[in-house]
Amino acid sequence: MSGVATRSALNLANQLRAAGIRSQAVLSAVAKTPRELFLDAALGHKAYENTALPIGQGQTISQPYIVARMTELLLESSPKRVLEIGTGSGYQAAILAQLVDQLCTVERIKSLQIQARQRLKRLDLHNVSFKYGDGWQGWVNKGPFDAIMVTAAASKIPEALLEQLAPDGVLVIPVGQVTQQLLRVTRHESGFETETIEMVRFVPLVNGALA
Ligand code: SAH
Repeated sequence: MSGVATRSALNLANQLRAAGIRSQAVLSAVAKTPRELFLDAALGHKAYENTALPIGQGQTISQPYIVARMTELLLESSPKRVLEIGTGSGYQAAILAQLVDQLCTVERIKSLQIQARQRLKRLDLHNVSFKYGDGWQGWVNKGPFDAIMVTAAASKIPEALLEQLAPDGVLVIPVGQVTQQLLRVTRHESGFETETIEMVRFVPLVNGALA
């Protein structure tokens, strides 16, 4: 990435700091990422508001606060290899790609995946592998991962994702139906530890067949 912060992206980062985001690394990634690139031109004027917005196919680009919060939670363990489930617009992937060595990301809607891939290429983010597939299965061949982030709400924690966590790896995932709890699950030698972080609202992690 060119690494230049724009005034509006910097304003967004300042809003997120005021909302409680502490990680300087995350805030500077937000300040350097042109969020309007991840939206239709008609929504460009809302790109730096701290809100979720539609990206087509009934899906949304997550609220910047929650993107930053989940990224900050995930970075606490300094992960190098990371898996994201739910590529969507690619915005969360663009933030993560600036902060970790290798990012793998899985999306079940082909058209969203294609657009996201083009956007990251345009930003010169080349440490990202894209897969069109079902996120409930993770990405077996690329694992294990130091951290996994799920950006859609799961009815329960997907077993395959726990299996693909490296020792001491963390999974950040919203779990629930209408409203959800954001959970952070850590893989210890003795078993999995689950922390409840806060209430969140995501589109569902769809079961089964690809779109
Ligand atoms: N991280 C995205 C958020 C997208 S919303 C962003 O920054 O824009 C959630 C995404 O999860 C949607 O694109 C949706 O298609 C995808 N999704 C839902 N169920 C899925 C599944 N089972 N496997 C992979 N992707 C899934």
